[in-house]
Amino acid sequence: MKKGYFGEFGGCFVPELLMPPLLEVEEAMQSILPTERFQTELQDLLRNFAGRPTPLTFCPRLSEELGIELWLKREDLLHSGAHKINNTLGQALLARYMGKTALVAETGAGQHGVATAVAAARLGMRCTVYMGAEDVERQAPNVMRMRLLGATVIPVESGTRTLKDAINEALRAWIAQQQTTHYCFGTAAGPHPFPTLVRMFQQVIGQETREQMRERAGKLPDAVVACVGGGSNAIGMFHPFLDEPGVKLIGVEAAGSGEPGCFNSAPLSLGVPGVLHGSLTMLLQNGDGQIEPSQSISAGLDYPGVGPEHAYLHKSGRVRYVMVRDQRALAAFERLCRAEGILPALESSHALAWALDHAEEFAPGSKVVVNLSGRGDKDLGIVRKALGLQAVGEFC
Ligand SMILES: *Cc1c(COP(=O)(O)O)cnc(C)c1O
Repeated sequence: MKKGYFGEFGGCFVPELLMPPLLEVEEAMQSILPTERFQTELQDLLRNFAGRPTPLTFCPRLSEELGIELWLKREDLLHSGAHKINNTLGQALLARYMGKTALVAETGAGQHGVATAVAAARLGMRCTVYMGAEDVERQAPNVMRMRLLGATVIPVESGTRTLKDAINEALRAWIAQQQTTHYCFGTAAGPHPFPTLVRMFQQVIGQETREQMRERAGKLPDAVVACVGGGSNAIGMFHPFLDEPGVKLIGVEAAGSGEPGCFNSAPLSLGVPGVLHGSLTMLLQNGDGQIEPSQSISAGLDYPGVGPEHAYLHKSGRVRYVMVRDQRALAAFERLCRAEGILPALESSHALAWALDHAEEFAPGSKVVVNLSGRGDKDLGIVRKALGLQAVGEFC
């Protein structure tokens, strides 16, 4: 395959001024990342700071109800509550090996901003997070977390004042500060080498799952399910299984409310090819080439693009991509809480919902692993509103 491409997708469609820092990252990915010294330090951080390996949890009650074996990969148990820390610790450490002293990052709901601020604080680096002004207002607790962790949060007033504008602004800031600064990109999308770099830091999810299934269940899973926003938790889970034809791979996009005329966050299922944020991939885009707004009950899936490797795996057919609506994700959220004592993130609830609603597609006893990408504590306000509950009263 052409460098930086996945089939026809991917590439590096950026202004000339961004090429030097991107080449520098690519160089570091090849020369620093594989070294024993780097890997040893990263393993130590992942194990003793972030909490790896994460457990693989068998769900006894849901398995009995569904007639399949349901297993959860517990990325929700990681420090800062989701898989994002795998990527930010990896990139921050790489940046330090490259001699950088500062990180910039974009964030939508604030989860990647928090994970970047955590990594920066731990490694003694400065951290600036660009966040759409609209999101700064909507996500006050994460803004507070970032500030407590020592990060500077810069509200972005351009465009729709949300994630895609924050990415544009962060890229601009990187151009100006590339001598000292690394851009810690938050998902397996963007220009080469980010889709590959982020996947390298996330594929620990799938590698651990392989070993844990072999050990616990005696064989590889029959199917693996993960939600797809930009695509980092899904590609991290899927990649170590790509060459195992016996393992079905299912990526779950957010269908939004599913009502006619409403927006969605499903560029693979409903989008068209186009260029966004430096990469040729599948996008929500209208006939004039304008990016359409995305919509989902889960902020982490609310992005109009997707990583180019997913666009390729969609086209090749190796991964099946499906859609789940807000209401089904909410139902899955509630069901996991009650049946298994785990509050999943609304993003992860999309993957779970597909498995719960499609269990009958699998032969009885099939082993199905759902990647629980994060925990649901951050989503309590949204869930409360969506379920029409009072703040506390309902439960008293
Ligand atoms: C950010 C986030 C996602 C979506 O991002 P990907 O890059 O698609 O993994 C999914 N789940 C959780 C919990 C998140 O915080």
